[in-house]
Amino acid sequence: SAKGAGRNRVACFEEGMDVAAQARRNLELDLRASLGRDEMRLHYQPLVDLKTQKKIGYEALLRWEHPERGVVMPDDFISVAEETGMIVQLGEWVIRKALDDAATWDDKLTVAINLSPTQMRSASLVSTIVSALAHSRVDPSRLELEITESILMHDSEANIRTLHTLRDLGIRISLDDFGTGYSSLNYLRSFPFDKIKIDRCFVSEIDTREDCRAIIRSVINLAQNLGMTTTAEGVEREDQVEELRIEGCDQVQGFLYGKAEALNEYTDLRSSDKQAPNVGTIYLPAAE
Ligand code: C2E
Ligand code: MG
Ligand code: MG
Ligand code: MG
Repeated sequence: SAKGAGRNRVACFEEGMDVAAQARRNLELDLRASLGRDEMRLHYQPLVDLKTQKKIGYEALLRWEHPERGVVMPDDFISVAEETGMIVQLGEWVIRKALDDAATWDDKLTVAINLSPTQMRSASLVSTIVSALAHSRVDPSRLELEITESILMHDSEANIRTLHTLRDLGIRISLDDFGTGYSSLNYLRSFPFDKIKIDRCFVSEIDTREDCRAIIRSVINLAQNLGMTTTAEGVEREDQVEELRIEGCDQVQGFLYGKAEALNEYTDLRSSDKQAPNVGTIYLPAAE
C-alpha cells in the first residue's frame, strides 16, 4: 500500500545521502513497488504517412500513474529502471501489452516499441518477443523495434547479432533519435536498419533554419540510398509538413497529428459500436 511504501521510504533517509541521492533512491523504491501494482500504462502516438496523410501505426510510450506523484513521464524514470535492471521486467510488460493491444486494432496498423540498452543485452529479450507475438497472434511484420545509437556503442557485436535474429523473424528495426548521438554515420554501417527516425531537434526548426533543413535533406537522401524509410519526429506545425514533403520524407509523427494517448476505450471493441483504430481514415490534424 501507499502507507507501506511511505514507511519504507523513511528508512532510506540515511545519513550521508544527499537530497538528490535520496530522491533517486525513493524513486527506485517506488518503481520497484509499482511492478506489482498495475500503475504502468501504455499511451499510443499515431504515425502518419506523409503522402496520403493516413494513419499507418502507433508508437507505444510508457506512462507511470503514480498514486502520489501523478503521471510520471519516461524521461523521469527510464534511466533509473535502466540502471537498476528493472527495465527488463518493465520492458517485458511493455512488449506483451503493446502486442496484445495491437491485436485489437486494424491489422494493417503497425506498433512501435522502444528498447533500451539493458533490455537489448537481456538473454530473455528474443524469447519474450517470440512468445508475445505468439500470444497476441500479431504478425511480426507489424512490429517495429526502436533503438538508439547507444545500443550499438556497448556490446555492439552481441547486440547486432540479436538485432539480426529479430529481423530474421520479420520484425522491423528503427534507429530512433537519429542525429543526436556521436558518430551516427558509422552506426548506419553496422546494421541494415529498416527506418531512420529523424530527431525532433532538427524537425522543430526545419521551417525556420536553413542548416536544419540541409541536415534533414541529407539524412533523407542517405536513408533513400541505403534503402531505409524515414520518419520525422516532433512535427508540430503545418509549415514543417510542407518542408518535409518537399524533401521527400516518408512518415511524420508529432503533436500536429496527435499526442500519445490511452486507447483503452478501443479494447474489446469488436462487439461494441466503437471503431477500432483504423487504417482507412484520413488523419486530420486537430484544429488549433
Ligand atoms: P522517443 O522514443 O524518441 O519518443 C518520442 C518522444 O517525443 C515522446 O516523449 C513523445 O511524447 C514526444 N513527442 C512526440 N511528438 C512530439 C511533438 O510534436 N513535440 C514534442 N515536444 N514532443 C513530442 P515521451 O513519451 O516522454 O518519451 C520519452 C522517451 O522515453 C522516448 O523517446 C523513449 O526513448 C523513452 N520511452 C518511452 N516509452 C518507453 C518504453 O516503453 N521503453 C523504453 N525503453 N523507453 C521508452
Ligand atoms: Mg521512439
Ligand atoms: Mg525519438
Ligand atoms: Mg527520445
